[in-house]
Amino acid sequence: MDARNWRWIVVNSWKFCEEHGREECLQCRCDYRLENNHASDLHLILDALLLDRDFDLDKRMSRHAYNRGAIPVKDGSKGRSKEYKCRTHGQKDCWTCFEWVAIVRQEVELLSPRKGRLPSA
Ligand SMILES: [Zn+2]
Ligand SMILES: [Zn+2]
Repeated sequence: MDARNWRWIVVNSWKFCEEHGREECLQCRCDYRLENNHASDLHLILDALLLDRDFDLDKRMSRHAYNRGAIPVKDGSKGRSKEYKCRTHGQKDCWTCFEWVAIVRQEVELLSPRKGRLPSA
């Protein structure tokens, strides 16, 4: 049986599984990293950084929406809204809390650039 859980949320244009708030979730068997990379044009934006690093954007660290304080805009008896805001500022799709591009950029920058490679003969 396919136990995939397809329910997802969108926080500042990135998808996460609804149940756990993860991009890659082993429990829901989902992986939205590929999609999210495209949603933010990460390949394009981080091109210069990626050029001299061995880094696969599709294998980057899976981010966690709920750990970054994402809460439903409305969470009442009539069910949750599909929109998410941050706990800190109460702002929908907050650009401070959910600045995904900057978060991934940091991850890439932690890797030192390739240096001293043997020149190809
Ligand atoms: Zn999940
Ligand atoms: Zn915020």
